Amino acid sequence: MTASRDERRMTNSVCALGIDVGSTTVKMVGVDAEGNLAWHLLEQADPRVEDQVERFLARAPCLSPPLAGGMKGGLPLVATGYGRKLVRPAARQVTEITCHAKGVYRELAHGGTLVDIGGQDSKVIGISPKGDVTDFSMNDKCAAGTGRFLENTANRLGVPLDRMGEVALSASQQVSISSTCTVFAESEVISLIAHGVAVESILRGLHRSLVKRVVAMIRTVGLTPPLMLSGGVAQNQAIPRMLEEETGETVILPRYPQLMGAYGAALMALEM
Ligand code: ADP
Repeated sequence: MTASRDERRMTNSVCALGIDVGSTTVKMVGVDAEGNLAWHLLEQADPRVEDQVERFLARAPCLSPPLAGGMKGGLPLVATGYGRKLVRPAARQVTEITCHAKGVYRELAHGGTLVDIGGQDSKVIGISPKGDVTDFSMNDKCAAGTGRFLENTANRLGVPLDRMGEVALSASQQVSISSTCTVFAESEVISLIAHGVAVESILRGLHRSLVKRVVAMIRTVGLTPPLMLSGGVAQNQAIPRMLEEETGETVILPRYPQLMGAYGAALMALEM
């Protein structure tokens, strides 16, 4: 899901809605009466959050216009994500930690350690065998260890977002990126290009650097297998592969990693 808009309808019966207003993308999910993912819409985040939320609600599958009090034409709505407080029609606003854990637990039916890597933050969440959040750690202060770190530097290398992982994995060599700061890493990349270092080796080094940051966070929470991955960056094939190399654990992914926050919110709306 790297397009600026992605929409899909799986079944006709949408009974509850969840919206995840992230810093990079906005996702909305509809679930059927059994809690199966029935519809979704994803767009790049618009700085005019409230207008975008209104557009999403207008597109959501139901017959009547949005109602106050968390109902969209009779459908309950729960909001999550960093902009969740701006979703006025939502009946409840719930943290991304709770929603990602709920969505992933429903999809994978496992307790363990969940890593969510989004556009501008990353989180490690401990989930009990019953699906409760036991512990978490969050980085939202620094772009290192988030999707933004790769996006900025890949831009410099002229590699499209959805090919970054594949190109990084194709490298036979890996350069070491010493800057953990995104801004300095960008300068380091420019200097490496000037010295004729292969793009794929630089990309491999950048991915390794991101994964090492995430592994340091995992250590603060503690790793209880299985290791699960959600968020948009989970769609980058090099990330699960390198997480496996760094931790020695198998990484498992839900079908739609980027939708897990919105899915968890929709499941909560369904329970209301
Ligand atoms: P947020 O919820 O914080 O807005 P998301 O979970 O939607 O963030 O993830 C957005 C990030 O995912 C972006 O940084 C983007 O670069 C990355 N991303 C999305 N799809 C892909 C892909 N196919 N390959 C690599 N990165 C991706």
